Amino acid sequence: MSTAKKFVLAGVMGWPVSHSRSPTLHNHWIQHYGLTGSYVLLPVEPSNLPDAVRGLRALGFAGCNITIPHKVEAMALMDRVDPMARRIGAINTVVVKPDGSLTGTNTDGFGYVQSLLDAQPDWRADTGPVIVLGAGGAARAVIVALADRGAREIRVCNRSGNKAMALQMEFGAPVRAVPWEQRHEALADVALLVNTTNQGMDKQPALDLNLSQLPAHALVSDVIYTPLETPLLAAARLRGNPTVNGLGMLLNQARPAFKSWFGVMPEITPALIQAIQVTF
Ligand code: NAP
Repeated sequence: MSTAKKFVLAGVMGWPVSHSRSPTLHNHWIQHYGLTGSYVLLPVEPSNLPDAVRGLRALGFAGCNITIPHKVEAMALMDRVDPMARRIGAINTVVVKPDGSLTGTNTDGFGYVQSLLDAQPDWRADTGPVIVLGAGGAARAVIVALADRGAREIRVCNRSGNKAMALQMEFGAPVRAVPWEQRHEALADVALLVNTTNQGMDKQPALDLNLSQLPAHALVSDVIYTPLETPLLAAARLRGNPTVNGLGMLLNQARPAFKSWFGVMPEITPALIQAIQVTF
């Protein structure tokens, strides 16, 4: 019997995808754990998505990440979708099973919660109301993960109020839509504030949010990681609030995906953070 290690192939499917940090992350771990394999960019135009996803098995891939703009459409191409991904309404990971079938999962919610726990190991979701700004794909992952961790009240506040209302209707309690105009006052008693809008990202204006009513102990998190400290996080830090940036979510969402392909739950080390930060 051959003792040669199996070459494991994985990648990230998106359009465009050349900006993705995922190859840096996963190839760092492949090397760190002495594994044999590679993680590659898979630029796939939307019209080619069905063929590309079906081709994973024939090409010998263990699976792949799915990124913008394919996260919703790829779900319909799976043989199985795990319950959390179904509730989020999108997948970010595909696993090719030994029988060739495809399973879709979503690790973004895990990544978000883990980023809070990395920063505050005793963090709990049920210590007070949460406010989530935004109602897009990132918001859905954050909301599902916080609800699963026992958050009792999740205020969803979005520029387009109908999308926040739709989330309230879909998820029911603990989600409650709050009009965008009330976002400043809605901070008054929260334990956690999460920005999932794109406001504050590089080349975008800062999030228009007055923190004056935010409790001093409230945790402020931003899923944006470029820049690492958004204007929101800088303002929160200056008034003494603890903060968590989006890098932890990015790194942690990759961990269960890597495990599903390579069989090792990888750790976030200073060397990994350094390798990622040079790509910013
Ligand atoms: P998305 O589905 O397009 O949602 C964008 C959200 O931003 C919507 O709620 C949108 O509100 C809001 N928005 C856009 N322009 C706005 C403005 N001028 N004022 C107020 N709100 C505005 O995007 P997404 O996939 O959720 O991504 C959102 C952010 O999360 C991005 O910065 C992305 O890079 C980041 N992200 C980070 C990670 C991570 O691993 N750290 C993972 C996923 C996403 P409307 O509904 O009114 O348009």
